[in-house]
Amino acid sequence: MTHPSHADAASDAVSHLSAGTPVVLTVIIPVLNEEKGLDKLLARLIPVLEREVASFEIVFIDDGSSDGTFDLIEARNASDPRIKAVSFSRNFGKEIAVAAGLRHAHGQAVIVMDSDLQHPPELIPKLIEGWRKGYDIVYGRRTHRDADGPARRFLARIFYRTFRALSGTRLHDDAGDFRLLSRRAVIALNQLGERARFNKGLFAWVGFKSLGVDFEVPDREDKTPSRWRPRQLWHFALDGLFSFTTVPLRIWSYLGLVISLVALAAMLFIMINTLIYGNPVRGYPTLIVSILFFGGIQLISLGVIGEYLGRVYEEVKARPLYIVGETIGVTPVEGDTRRASETRPQDETAA
Ligand code: UDP
Ligand code: MG
Repeated sequence: MTHPSHADAASDAVSHLSAGTPVVLTVIIPVLNEEKGLDKLLARLIPVLEREVASFEIVFIDDGSSDGTFDLIEARNASDPRIKAVSFSRNFGKEIAVAAGLRHAHGQAVIVMDSDLQHPPELIPKLIEGWRKGYDIVYGRRTHRDADGPARRFLARIFYRTFRALSGTRLHDDAGDFRLLSRRAVIALNQLGERARFNKGLFAWVGFKSLGVDFEVPDREDKTPSRWRPRQLWHFALDGLFSFTTVPLRIWSYLGLVISLVALAAMLFIMINTLIYGNPVRGYPTLIVSILFFGGIQLISLGVIGEYLGRVYEEVKARPLYIVGETIGVTPVEGDTRRASETRPQDETAA
């Protein structure tokens, strides 16, 4: 505890808290229509947290639920003020819910987890242990993804392969969204203002020392299907790719070059064939095929440019990431302008 900024950071952290006591750990949990499973989750989560840390808060981000999720959290808050919530004005998607959670988390460490008990609370001690050893990011590593169904697993594998090949960013191996972040990792993440949120990529992008902890993913506790609709997952994959690489923009120049060279060769071949050997040109099939081929290529490349252009448009509009409808017991972490370098991962662990 000889680090010069330590005392400042501690008093800083305290001054951000409405209650006046430092919170060691914040657990943020995005929820969409999860009223059925919530009590079961709390019953397993709270004892673990009480054993592990001196103080904690659980911040639910209600991502536009249409069932009684928010009322339930409100009722639980009345008896246990450590249970808090931010409620969105509509559904903004899980990734944005996590971003909102990070901006409302006051803990010196922050854990992100799902509400459906696919992220077992019993892993939390291991995450905290990694943090206390000095790791900034401790993530749950899924040993298998049987809970996901074969099609989704297959597509996920293709996606991660493509992602690795195209973007320089190396994602944490087999990491889901179950993870612990140190305060300075949270500060770094809160500085990223982009709208296309691909948290897995952002977590890896901010860097810092990270550690994987294995766990098995059980089925969703209430056996209801995943809250992600296939269309959402598809857009999520595109967002992930396009926000981490511009390679798709560049391939067209190379492809164009190759095709031009081939066209040049074909032209020479045809000229020699007709002028020197006097063979008549039978062009119709080749003509149709090449028109369709190049038409296709051009449309694809336009589409790719469009993907980027659309994202540029979304970003320059600079709308807020989300709109908060109601809150229970939370305030945004404002004025935490400390640079990530001014804090250390294990700052202000349990006294
Ligand atoms: N979720 C959310 N907004 C959404 C979709 C999901 O907040 O638009 C929450 C959901 O309530 C759950 C977590 O994100 O707590 C993970 O969702 P789910 O279990 O459906 O996803 P999967 O495990 O299939 O990735
Ligand atoms: Mg789930």
